[in-house]
Amino acid sequence: MVRAKFGGFSGNQLTEAILSAVSGIEFKSFEAGVHSRDEAKKLSLRRETVSFLESSGHEYVPNGSPDVCILVDAENGFVEAIPQSVFVEGAYNKLKRGIAQTFHYCYKCKGRGCTFCSGKGKLSELSVQEAIDSVLLSAFGSRESRFHGCGREDADVLMLGKGRPFVFEVIEPQKRSLALRPLENIVNSVFLGKVQVHGLKYCKKERVAELKNTEFGKIYSTKCSAKKPVSREALAGLVGKQFHVLQQTPERVEKRRAMKDREKSAQISKAELLASGSFHVEILASHGLYIKEFVSGDNGRTRPSVSSLLGIECHCDELDVLEIVFGK
Ligand SMILES: [Zn+2]
Repeated sequence: MVRAKFGGFSGNQLTEAILSAVSGIEFKSFEAGVHSRDEAKKLSLRRETVSFLESSGHEYVPNGSPDVCILVDAENGFVEAIPQSVFVEGAYNKLKRGIAQTFHYCYKCKGRGCTFCSGKGKLSELSVQEAIDSVLLSAFGSRESRFHGCGREDADVLMLGKGRPFVFEVIEPQKRSLALRPLENIVNSVFLGKVQVHGLKYCKKERVAELKNTEFGKIYSTKCSAKKPVSREALAGLVGKQFHVLQQTPERVEKRRAMKDREKSAQISKAELLASGSFHVEILASHGLYIKEFVSGDNGRTRPSVSSLLGIECHCDELDVLEIVFGK
């Protein structure tokens, strides 16, 4: 947001304040608001603002999605230009464990830095959001972003395959028509082996709600350990079956989410014994199934589970999302 002093008079004083407020901001369309207790003055200032900007080739969109909002405040003596967010959609892969999806301050110190977070002020070293921030924010002339993921995975889970769709919202950008391919390439070379992004393209704000409301399944690859030896036959018996799963909100997320029984499905497509107490399974899970609990059983709160099916207590040691499957 850029604010310019404005003495409250129309004519040169107004146009100079507008020019100074929009200086450096790329925009094609605009919306104009005027604050004045004097109704007649309000109307004339708006008319003047609109015709001035239109005469320099900008489109007035009073009821649309403008690139910039101009606020003329005759009472407090300023003109403000507020660039509206730019939305970029794409898909990401997370290729290393310990990377969060979004930036989070350390909940103990709220970002100031403490012994719990080793003075970093945050809990994960890196997030997908920060990787994109580091390249896109400076390019767009923005200071902050919002990251809208199509669901999310825990920081210790890899996101492989075609990646997870997201919308990256650039807040108050100075620029709004940069070529995205070169920026995508920079992100991918700086974060090689950690975070990769694909298919970046501009989108409308409405895509955020669309992504949030999309149902999708996921194919997981899990490495599990068992308390007792598992037989190859028992493991093979799970393959190809479709399980109807009743899942209560897991103990680990109970504090954050409402308790409810969810009906989900899981299909085990591959199973492989790695050692007597260690195996690997591939699971196609319906939207929202908590997979770590489908393995462990979560003390009977997820039924059935890999543990209950094998009759042996099992634990998910490593988890990767192999693919997101839409329409499941
Ligand atoms: Zn801290």
